[in-house]
Amino acid sequence: MAKSAPAISLKGLTKNFGSLAAVDHLDLEIASGEFFSMLGPSGSGKTTVLRMIAGFDLPSSGTVELDGEDVTSLAPFDRDVNTVFQDYALFGHMSVFENVEYGLKVRKIPKSERKRKVMEVLDTVRLADLAERRPAQLSGGQRQRIALARAIVVDPKVLLLDEPLGALDLKLREQMQIELKQLQRELAITFVFVTHDQEEALTLSDRIAVFNNGKIEQLGTPQELYEIPKSEFVAGFVGTSNIFNEEAALTLFGKRGRFALRPEKVSVSDKKKAGSVQGVVSEVIYLGSFTRLIVDVAGIHIKATVPADVFHRNQTVQINMSSTDLVVL
Ligand code: ATP
Repeated sequence: MAKSAPAISLKGLTKNFGSLAAVDHLDLEIASGEFFSMLGPSGSGKTTVLRMIAGFDLPSSGTVELDGEDVTSLAPFDRDVNTVFQDYALFGHMSVFENVEYGLKVRKIPKSERKRKVMEVLDTVRLADLAERRPAQLSGGQRQRIALARAIVVDPKVLLLDEPLGALDLKLREQMQIELKQLQRELAITFVFVTHDQEEALTLSDRIAVFNNGKIEQLGTPQELYEIPKSEFVAGFVGTSNIFNEEAALTLFGKRGRFALRPEKVSVSDKKKAGSVQGVVSEVIYLGSFTRLIVDVAGIHIKATVPADVFHRNQTVQINMSSTDLVVL
């Protein structure tokens, strides 16, 4: 049997703004049904990629294929994708029902069918009882859910989400993350999610592309990116890492090269053990469920994750690090 085409395939995709390559010869395939995130700092090109997939921006060169069909020059409404924007872009003068109905009206779906579809989708996002309200009469989380309902009501094959949870407070954001993941599983459509929040990307995604300067630095599952970052940029952007340069690596491990080591792989004790090195706690950062220590060993600052309330500043401690936990950069 022939392998089915990827939901999205980008080939040599480039977008120049003057002399700036906002997106630089990008090759990427996203499988059907995948929850795919584009993660990166502000200005790294994520939104520009999304806008080219949606058809809001034309590439300077390269192609966008959806389900094996070249759509590079098709208008946004001729593509089987829909977008949820960070500011939701809801129509303030329309009710929740009318906001969600809009896309079906534009597609000339008959009225009775529209009503059935809208109520079904509002049910999915648990807003059926608020159908007559206007967006201004809703909370941030509820507005977010209408934006989702409005995007999924037309049954797109691909849903593009541009920092959709950025405007929500932390607690609501965490709740919406779970809802998004459940929704994606239920609908089995491809989600392409843009975020600069690494924790959010790790929580939600099947795979993540880490962007830097218009290029993908690394592509992988959350676990691969966390466990085996290929560059200092990824090691620093996805989670927290110790980065040891040549000199530090030689001093601490007698090894040549540049390495990353996660703080949870550094064990700290007040007793000397085989292979331990002595250091002094220079900083104690309380982070709720755990505490981060900065330990000074021969002038090298080492981050370690420890339980709360065990160590204090200026305390002399023994730390153990195994060279098998080092990740080569
Ligand atoms: P953010 O997380 O802040 O949204 P991003 O990774 O999505 O950032 P983009 O919005 O894709 O980044 O922008 C990539 C680069 O392209 C930036 O340097 C930006 O200033 C530039 N850029 C984006 N749109 C335009 C435009 N219409 N004209 C000129 N430059 C632009």
